[in-house]
Amino acid sequence: MNRGTYLEIELGKITENARHVAAVCAQRGIEVLGVTKGFSAIPRIVEAIIAGGVDKLADARLENIMSLRYLGFTQEMTLLRIPMLSSVNQVTAWTNCSLNSELSVIRALSDAAQSLGKRHNIVLMVDVGDLREGVLPSAAADTLRKILTMKGVYVSGIGTNMGCYGGILPTEKNLSMLSELAVDLQNIAGRHFEVVSGGGTSSLMLIHSGEMPGQINQLRVGEGILLGTDTTHNCNIPWLYQDAFLLHAEIVEIKSKPSIPYGEVGLDAFGRTPEFEDRGVRKRAIVSLGGQDVSVDGIVPMDEGINILGASSDHMILDVSDAGEKLRVGDEVCFRLNYHGLLRLCSSKYIKRVYKYGFDASASEEDLSAKSAS
Ligand SMILES: *Cc1c(COP(=O)(O)O)cnc(C)c1O
Repeated sequence: MNRGTYLEIELGKITENARHVAAVCAQRGIEVLGVTKGFSAIPRIVEAIIAGGVDKLADARLENIMSLRYLGFTQEMTLLRIPMLSSVNQVTAWTNCSLNSELSVIRALSDAAQSLGKRHNIVLMVDVGDLREGVLPSAAADTLRKILTMKGVYVSGIGTNMGCYGGILPTEKNLSMLSELAVDLQNIAGRHFEVVSGGGTSSLMLIHSGEMPGQINQLRVGEGILLGTDTTHNCNIPWLYQDAFLLHAEIVEIKSKPSIPYGEVGLDAFGRTPEFEDRGVRKRAIVSLGGQDVSVDGIVPMDEGINILGASSDHMILDVSDAGEKLRVGDEVCFRLNYHGLLRLCSSKYIKRVYKYGFDASASEEDLSAKSAS
């Protein structure tokens, strides 16, 4: 059966990945927040993660958290992106917790929470090298003292982010910095922190190698659960599934053509000067997919003999001369996704989604479809 271009989502594999990540972390006393931003918090996928036993959620976008709340999800939800000063009313109304690094924002969150008669939980972000969000370790104690005077916020703990901007790997060394800081800051607060959050998927490796410093008790995991990959370390996570998401694209043209365009050269559809390598006449396929849906570096053909040559908004051009099987118009080409590709494809309104159930007996088809129908 031909379905055109669509994203195939095998929910059972996502459930299994969530279950494995949670189990590996639980062995070291670490809880997992399931990060939903990579797939725009699509409800069925959120349910698949919850079915794996990960029932605390986190997302970077308030809109995603709000839509899950509208749909009746009651799980604890943490806002990952540090809040805009202009969003504090919504953040306190809709989320249980947010990650923060600016006193002015935290003060505004405190005021907003108080006016709702609530206390908002915050995690104070500390920068241990990646240079994205967070106070510097040397400023953490002072910042904490100021936050502790604010009545509308409760400091659940501290956290850090890694491997996002600076590409800095989480190591025993930099996470020990966070772990030791947690000890000092708990002394200042005069209590134990519920949360010492040691990063995302890229921190899983330290758990596996037994090097995770003692105080770290939470990770916020998206990519690992969804794709079974660790982009920061540039590797697959061997104990997780890599193929829960597959993109199928339908071939709309297939012809042998020269590998260098002919005629006068201008700019391409995106205003760039294209460059080509002369490989003689090659068999080329166009699939019904383009820059509106995903960028060419977000997907990888499953067939290693297929190369992506490029794409305009609506047509993606493939070199299929060395494809493993003979392809025809109407056939599908299948791609794996990276995190960036997943994010784009799940937010494109043009990409159909086809769910595959029943992979795992413990997350049966009836179960998941019953829940998503309700
Ligand atoms: C996206 C994000 C995560 C999750 O990262 P993964 O690599 O998908 O596990 C964790 N923390 C923050 C602050 C994020 O923005």
